[in-house]
Amino acid sequence: MSSNYKHLLEPLDLGFTTLKNRALMGSMHTGLEDRARDFPKLAAYFAERARGGVALMVTGGFAPNIEGWLSPFGSKLSKKSEVKRHLQVTKAVHDEGGKICLQILHAGRYGYSPLCVSASNIKSPISPFKPRALSTKGVYRTIKDYANSAALAQQAGYDGVEIMGSEGYFINQFLVTHTNKRTDEWGGSFDNRMRLPVEIVKAVRAAAGPNFIIIYRLSMLDLIEQGSTWEEVVKLGQAIEAAGATIINTGIGWHEARVPTIATSVPRAAFSWVTGRMNDHVSIPVVATNRINDPQVANDIIERGDSDMISMARPFLADSDFVKKAASGNAELINTCIGCNQACLDHTFSGKRSTCLVNPRACYETELNYTPTTLSKKVAVVGAGPAGLSAATVLADRGHEVDLFDKDEQIGGQFNIAKKIPGKEEFYETLRYFENLIKKNGVKLHLNQTISAEQLISSGYDEVVLATGIRPRQLDLDGADHSKVLSYIDVVVHKKPVGHRVAIIGAGGIGFDIAELLAHQGVSPSLDVQKFNKEWGVDESYDSRGAYIMASPEPAARQITMLQRKQSKMGKGLGKTTGWIHRASLKMKNVQMISGVNYTKIDDRGLHFTIQDGEPQVVECDTVVVCAGQLSRRDLLDELQTHNISTHLVGGSKLAGELDAKRAIREGFEVASLI
Ligand code: FAD
Ligand code: NAP
Ligand code: SF4
Repeated sequence: MSSNYKHLLEPLDLGFTTLKNRALMGSMHTGLEDRARDFPKLAAYFAERARGGVALMVTGGFAPNIEGWLSPFGSKLSKKSEVKRHLQVTKAVHDEGGKICLQILHAGRYGYSPLCVSASNIKSPISPFKPRALSTKGVYRTIKDYANSAALAQQAGYDGVEIMGSEGYFINQFLVTHTNKRTDEWGGSFDNRMRLPVEIVKAVRAAAGPNFIIIYRLSMLDLIEQGSTWEEVVKLGQAIEAAGATIINTGIGWHEARVPTIATSVPRAAFSWVTGRMNDHVSIPVVATNRINDPQVANDIIERGDSDMISMARPFLADSDFVKKAASGNAELINTCIGCNQACLDHTFSGKRSTCLVNPRACYETELNYTPTTLSKKVAVVGAGPAGLSAATVLADRGHEVDLFDKDEQIGGQFNIAKKIPGKEEFYETLRYFENLIKKNGVKLHLNQTISAEQLISSGYDEVVLATGIRPRQLDLDGADHSKVLSYIDVVVHKKPVGHRVAIIGAGGIGFDIAELLAHQGVSPSLDVQKFNKEWGVDESYDSRGAYIMASPEPAARQITMLQRKQSKMGKGLGKTTGWIHRASLKMKNVQMISGVNYTKIDDRGLHFTIQDGEPQVVECDTVVVCAGQLSRRDLLDELQTHNISTHLVGGSKLAGELDAKRAIREGFEVASLI
C-alpha cells in the first residue's frame, strides 16, 4: 500500500461490515438505469469500478414510487418484478470484491413529470411541472414506499441504500418554509418539517434490519435564499443518526442554486469545510464530497479530520482504476476528471447516456474496447493534441510501433491554451496523464518537429494518423490587419499586451474563455476558496440561511464587449450545465454582449458595426480580439493520399465545426482501436 494516501486507503469498520478503504463512488445517473435491457451494461460499468478498488458505490437514483419519478418511466424500484434486473449488478460487483448501495431518490417538484408531488404545490424555477401537494395520508404512504424500496434493494443483493435528502429534491422540499407551507404534522415548525426524513430513515431501518448500510445524503449547504440554518442542519443530522443511519453523506446546493457546485471553476474540495463542521456534531462516519478528484486532496481531507470518507463520482467515470493506481504508487497515471461536465452531466440533461470526455469507454464498457493487435504496424501520429494523444497511446498499448510528432515544444495542442483560462486549470491534468501514458506505453515522442509528407512517405510508415488540429479563422474585414487586432493565440500564447477597452469578435466557447481571462485579475477564483466564496456569495461563517449571501465579486480588470452576428442568445452553444456559469460570471464583470451585428471595419477608434438597417455604431476600444472560429488543418493529406499511404483523420483535422475535446479524444480512441 502506498503510504502517501494511508488515510484514504485505510479500512472503515461500520460494525456489521468493513469497507476496504475510504473511497465512495457517489451516485450518478448514467442513463443505463431506466431500461431493464441496459442492466448488463450497467453491471459491467459497476464491475469495472469495483475491480478498480473503490470500497463502496452508490447507484444512480431509483424512485420509490411513480410520483417520485425523475422522468416518466424512468428508474424506479417499487415492485418485486423490478428486483431481478438488479441481481446482475450486485452479483457483478460482489464478484469483484466491491460493495454497492442503491440510491432512493424521490424527485418531488424536480420531477419532469405531470405526476410530480411535493410538500406544497409550488413550482420550482427549473422545472415545467407544478407539483401536487401530497395529502397527509400521502406522506405516510410515501414513507412506506421508501421502506418498501429499501426492502426490495436488500432482496436484490445491495449492501445498503442511500436516501437522497439533498440537492433540492423531495425531502429538501419539506425542510424549508418557502417550499413547505403545510399546516399538518409535516409543516410549520422545524421539528415538523424535519419529521419526514427522520421517519423515512426509521422506516428503512425497521424494514432492512441492523446489518444494512443506510447512507443519508444531508443537505449541509442549501445555497439558496431561505435555505436551512446551520442549527437546523445539525439538528437534522443528529436526528438522522438517532433514527438509525450508518453514514452521513454531504449534499451541496439545491439544483436551482445560482452558485456553481461541481463545475471545473469550483476550487478543489471547496466545500469540505462544511462536512468538517458536521463531523463535530455526529458520531457516525461522514463523507466529504464535490470537486474532489485527486488522491492527495482526498487523503488530506480525512487526515485533517473533516471527514471519514470521500465521495468522488465523476473521477470514477474518468478512471475506474483511480484507487488501484493510488494504492500501487501510480497516481501519476490517474486519468483525472477535469470537471468539464461535457460528457457526463451535459449528456444526462440532454437525455443521452453519460460517458466521459477524457475516457470515452465510461458507460460503454461492453461496447468500446480494444484488443492487442495480431499484426504490429509502424504508425505515425502527426499532432499531439487531444486527438493525437488518444490515438497514439491506444495504438501503442495495442502493440503497434508508434511515432508521435508535434511541431510544438510540448504535447497538448489547444489544451495548452485552455489550461491558462481562469477556471480551466484542471485541463493541465489531462496533459500530465498523457505525458506519463506516452512513457508507459512506449510511444516515441518527437517534439519541435513539423513533419512533412515527404518525411512520412520516406520513413516507410504503414499507417498515418493526421491529428493536426485547426488554424484560427482569419477575418475578412476592412482593418483586420490593424495593430490593435489580436488573435486569441496572440493573447494567451504570445502574451501580447491587451488594452483596457476590449472588443471580442465571436462569442463561441473561445470568445467566452478569452473574456473570462481578460476580465479577471490576480489569482483565479477556482484556485482560492475564499475568493470563490466571495465571488459567488457562499457564506462560510454560516450566519445566513442556506449559507447564501450577496455575491461581492472583484471588479473587472477591463471593460469588455463581446459581439456575434447571430441574433440568438450569447453562449447558446455552451455546455448545458455550465453555460449559465460563464454567462453569470461575465455579467458580474459587466461584460457587454451584443448580438445580431454586421461588422463594417476596424480603425483607430475601434470596432464598427451595424445592427440590421440601423445607424452605424462603434465599440471604442484599444484592442480587438478575434475568436471567430476555426478551420481544419490537414496540409499533409493530399500528398499522403497521392502516395497511397493509408491515412486517418481525427479531431480538428477531420472536421473543425462542432469540434471539442470530447470528440477529438473519442475519435483518436476509435481510429486507434481499428488499426
Ligand atoms: P489540437 O488541439 O489543435 O492539436 C493539434 C496539434 O497538431 C497541435 O499540437 C499542433 O502543434 C500539431 N500540428 C499541427 N500541424 C502539425 C504538423 N505538420 N506537424 C506536427 N505537428 C503538427 N474543448 C473542450 O472540449 N472543452 C473546453 O472547455 C475547451 N476549452 C477550450 C478553451 C480554449 C481557449 C481553446 C483554444 C480550446 C478549447 N477547447 C475546449 C477545444 C479543444 O482544445 C479542441 O477541441 C481540441 O484540442 C482539439 O484537439 P485536436 O487534437 O483535434 O487538435
Ligand atoms: P465556435 O464556438 O464555433 O464560435 C465561433 C464564433 O465566431 C461564433 O460566435 C461565430 O458567431 C463567430 N464567427 C464565425 N465565423 C465568423 C466570421 N467569419 N467573422 C466573424 N465572426 C465569426 O468556435 P470557437 O469559439 O473558436 O471554439 C472552437 C471549438 O472549441 C468549439 O467548437 C468549441 O466547442 C470548443 N470549445 C469548447 C469550450 C467549452 O467550454 N465546451 C470552450 C472553448 C472552446 P457568429 O457567426 O454569430 O458571428
Ligand atoms: Fe469529469 Fe468531464 Fe469526464 Fe464528466 S466528462 S467525468 S466532468 S472529465
